[in-house]
Amino acid sequence: MSERVFNFSAGPSTLPLEVLEEAAKEMTNYRGTGMSVMEMSHRGKPYMAIFEETKADLKRILKVPDTHEILFTPGGATMQFSAIPMNLIGKTGKADYAVTGNFSTVAMKEAKKYGEIHVACSSEDKNHTYIPAQKDIDVSEDASYFHYCSNNTIFGTEWQYVPETGEVPLVCDMSSNILSMPIDVSKYGLIYAGVQKNMAPAGAAVVIVNKDLVGNEHPLTPKLLSYKVMSESDSMNNTPPCYTIYMLGLVLKWLDRQGGLEAMAKLKAERSKYIYDVLDDSKMFIGCAEKEARSDMNVTFRTSSPELDDKFIKEAKAAGFDTLKGHRAVGGMRASIYNAMPIEGTKELAAFMRKFELEN
Ligand SMILES: *Cc1c(COP(=O)(O)O)cnc(C)c1O
Repeated sequence: MSERVFNFSAGPSTLPLEVLEEAAKEMTNYRGTGMSVMEMSHRGKPYMAIFEETKADLKRILKVPDTHEILFTPGGATMQFSAIPMNLIGKTGKADYAVTGNFSTVAMKEAKKYGEIHVACSSEDKNHTYIPAQKDIDVSEDASYFHYCSNNTIFGTEWQYVPETGEVPLVCDMSSNILSMPIDVSKYGLIYAGVQKNMAPAGAAVVIVNKDLVGNEHPLTPKLLSYKVMSESDSMNNTPPCYTIYMLGLVLKWLDRQGGLEAMAKLKAERSKYIYDVLDDSKMFIGCAEKEARSDMNVTFRTSSPELDDKFIKEAKAAGFDTLKGHRAVGGMRASIYNAMPIEGTKELAAFMRKFELEN
């Protein structure tokens, strides 16, 4: 293997090296089948075994109760921005959205096509540097669902609590922090995540939906966006993103070997702490998010000037810390540090930041 960099890309993002090596080993001949997973029928025995095992592992690891169904859908998280209102808003014609960043804004705007949308809370007044408190959330009793995004990938904030919405089902975009800690799936009507942040290469989304919410879709819902169709066909109404699902399977086995979600939760806090400690001590680097809302998955920070930011990003890249440029909506830097980022990645980045500050 050639030298790998510490890859801080927000998504698609770094995958565990062990997983990549395993996939490489099985690339041309998957376990004696004489073919690659990419080449096999999605309805054949070898692929069905991969599919079933991946789904079962995800169910076990996330402790998904039998009340909920796991779907593998094409189109990433963005496709779900449309699928969610098409399937769920019909109950009352209304839905609540918490607006705490770019993706929740996009999701909210898309939902407006299908019903009456109420912004239940927003952090837009301070450029999404914080997460609203429970007392500031205005839940509509007649909302068909309440949508929020648990980790704001671009702004670097993360909900530190699960919002209370009474009888209104919770719908959560967990694209950038799913599998980073144990969660209580039973609290949610629907959880979804594009897989390319913390689970697999791009090409799919995982949807975990309460079966009670399935079957009320708008009549014009395209069949691949219908949770009923996807559920009845076990995500196999057409050819699923086969290879991505296989890779997710390998990542889940890796996750087991690391000690599961408890281990990930511990690592998540330790990993981000290295960088946040620098931000707290530094006279040069400034964290973009408010302390109480800081994300363990995406750390956003900057210096006093865009020129110095650029210098930092350039020198960091030369030192083996890749893709640290922040999103244009925030500027500065962003270190995306998902499950597959080794602890050495942030430890060494923190040391590099301290050295850069001394030299500049
Ligand atoms: C990346 C991301 C998305 C968009 O995902 P796609 O799979 O590209 O559609 C949506 N929500 C969040 C929180 C994300 O991080």
